[in-house]
Amino acid sequence: MKCVILIRAAVEGKSKGISFHNFKEMFQKMEETFKFCTGCSKLPEHLTEGQTLKRCAKCLNVYYCTKECQQKDWPQHKKVCKILRLVAIDRLVEWLMFTGNLPFPTGKWSKTATEVKSWDDWLPMQRDLTACLDAILSGGNMAILWKNVSRPRPDDTDLRQSLWRIQSEFLSRVLTVGMAMQHFGLDPYAKPLTIHLAGASHSETMGARLTDYDELNSMFPGHQGIEVVMVGPEVVDGPIVRTPLTAFGPKQKVYISAYKGLYHQFWEDVVEKEEAAKPDLVVGFHPGFHANQGLVEGWLPTLLLLRDYNIPSFFTMYSEMELKYSLQILLELEMHIRDSGSNPFSSQKPEQVQACPNKTPVYCNSHYVCFQGLLPRENFEEPGPDS
Ligand SMILES: [Zn+2]
Ligand SMILES: [Zn+2]
Repeated sequence: MKCVILIRAAVEGKSKGISFHNFKEMFQKMEETFKFCTGCSKLPEHLTEGQTLKRCAKCLNVYYCTKECQQKDWPQHKKVCKILRLVAIDRLVEWLMFTGNLPFPTGKWSKTATEVKSWDDWLPMQRDLTACLDAILSGGNMAILWKNVSRPRPDDTDLRQSLWRIQSEFLSRVLTVGMAMQHFGLDPYAKPLTIHLAGASHSETMGARLTDYDELNSMFPGHQGIEVVMVGPEVVDGPIVRTPLTAFGPKQKVYISAYKGLYHQFWEDVVEKEEAAKPDLVVGFHPGFHANQGLVEGWLPTLLLLRDYNIPSFFTMYSEMELKYSLQILLELEMHIRDSGSNPFSSQKPEQVQACPNKTPVYCNSHYVCFQGLLPRENFEEPGPDS
């Protein structure tokens, strides 16, 4: 996340306290957040004179203060070194999201939404994929990137795969929304649909463009209009921050709007006053309410609202463990859970746990849960006349 902010600042040339003289400096700054000894957590400023942090030569991702620290850490690190090599490439290539090279344009769908059940169905529809990737590979920004970072340029195969992984993270969100619509049997041909993204984050809204959900047009060609409203306290200012629609959006178009604030406040201040349409579906990407009590409490008004208004809801998680804890919380709230499992449109880009690089990387939207309304009770007793 921190990297993304630095990149954005550099690309937009906005100061906000961050400014760079050149790309080299920007990439160095980005790398600094990863510079600590993976063995003993020592930071560069705590090294003794003459000592420097040395990078693992295999993954070029993690650092060590001494040979001893590296050797001691190897039994742990060797389990993830290979995948962390890919992570280290991705965190540089991700810069191309901000130069406009990524996401690359996708092709029209030759199959219907119901036929496209996973990436394996989606990918063969992209006839121009190789050409798209090769155009970015030979582009000027790719050259600038590898000229200014302190490591050699990986080979083209590595770079093509990295570009795809980054694109998959972006598309994963859009395809997950489409999948959620189908899960609840919402028909975008019958009427325009309003979809709220609750808890929309920095990473989704920073640099977001009005066309970010256009893959839904390929998924449901000729639909009646789909509005995507991103709502969250982290929403970043930009073209998508505009007033939500009160009714029918433009046909065959995806209309994105955004609101900065907590979801339940948005509901009270805007939806209840009929200044925005009620949602047909609410999607949340990694709400993270499983992580600690504070987060649960923050999400509680929203979760209860979704339950009590009987709104089709679809949330994603980073891992199976996170799904397990989230399910427990939703069950305690007596949510009617309709389905859960691994997401066929999970991001393909591994995410490093930055503070603990030896933890197994996770993937955005790797798991999901869909729920709606209150759990029906089997032996529900009607209140008697004298109760
Ligand atoms: Zn150390
Ligand atoms: Zn390594």
